[in-house]
Amino acid sequence: MNPQIQPYLPTHVNLYFVDYRDDLCEQKELLQESLAANSLDSIHEKVWDWWDYPEGTYLDEIRKKMEQDGADELYEENEEEIRDWLSANDTSTPVEDLLSNTGKISMFYSLGLEIDGWHSGFMCNPWRNGSYAQDAYKVRRVLGIAKDTPEATLIDRIVRQASGGGELRIYFSNELTAVLSDDPENDFKQIHFKGEFAVALYNAGEGSGDFEYITLYRTFPFKRSNLYTSESEKYNLENCFGMCSDWLHKQGAPTFTMELPKRGRQIKESKNAARNAQDAEYKRIFKAGGCSAGDMDINRHRGVYYENNFPCGNRCPHCGTFWID
Ligand SMILES: [Zn+2]
Repeated sequence: MNPQIQPYLPTHVNLYFVDYRDDLCEQKELLQESLAANSLDSIHEKVWDWWDYPEGTYLDEIRKKMEQDGADELYEENEEEIRDWLSANDTSTPVEDLLSNTGKISMFYSLGLEIDGWHSGFMCNPWRNGSYAQDAYKVRRVLGIAKDTPEATLIDRIVRQASGGGELRIYFSNELTAVLSDDPENDFKQIHFKGEFAVALYNAGEGSGDFEYITLYRTFPFKRSNLYTSESEKYNLENCFGMCSDWLHKQGAPTFTMELPKRGRQIKESKNAARNAQDAEYKRIFKAGGCSAGDMDINRHRGVYYENNFPCGNRCPHCGTFWID
C-alpha cells in the first residue's frame, strides 16, 4: 500500500452491518439447506448477494477526502488496492450475527419408523392396517420405553390420536450451528437424547399428527438425512397446531458425538428426503407452466373446475387430478 494513502484509511472496517432486527427466521429453505449440507456456505453466499458491493460507502468516503486534498489521481490509481485492503481488514461477522439474531429454530430427528393411519375411500368403510397395540409396541421399541410406564401411556395416546398415522419424530429446538459438525466432511456419528422432548407421529404429506412431551434416555446412530428444520416443511407441525415458535424452548436439545455406534444399531432412512424432492419437482413443473397428476396442492394446477357429477369434487382439466368433496 502506498504510504500516502494510509492517512485516508478508516481505523475500523465493518463492511457487513447486521441490524439487531435482521435475522434468518423467514429464510426457511436456506436454514434447511445449510443443515442438510452440514455447512454454512450457502448462508455466506447469500450474504454476498444481499450486501451488494459493501465497500462502496467506504470508497466514496475515502475518495471524497482525497479529492479535497487534491489527490484524485492517487485515488484512481489505487482504488483496486484500497478495496482489497478494506476486505482484508473487515472485522464484521455477518453470518454469525444473523444466526445469533435468529436464535433457536425447531427441528426434528426422524427415526424412520412409519405408522399407518386410517384410510378412507369412496364408498368404503375407513380402514387401518395394524392394531394400535402393535403400533404402540413398535414405537416403544424404537424409543426404548418399557410397557406399563407413564411414558408408555403417552405413546398409546399418540398412536390413537394421530389418526392419519405418520413418521416417528423427536422435536427439539436448537441453534443451527449446534447441529453442524466442525468439519463438514466428518459428520457426527451418534445423537443422544437425555431429558424431555416432544415425541410425535406426524404425517407431513397431509399435515396431521399428534405429539406428547416425553422423557427419553436414548442414543441413536446419526444420519444427517433424518435431521430437518421443521418449518421448512410444506405442512409443518407448527402450522398444523398453530404453535408459536417457542413451543420447544423449555425442552432439552440432543447432543452429538463422534464415537461410532455399537455394532448392529441402525435406524431407517426417513422418507422426507424423497417427499421433499418430489415436492420440489412439482414446484419446478408448475413454475415452467405445467402441472403433475397426483400433486394434491390445488394451487399448483390451472383452470381447476367443479364437477357436479357423482362423486363431486374439483378436477384439473390438464392432468386430471381430482379432489373428492
Ligand atoms: Zn393439473
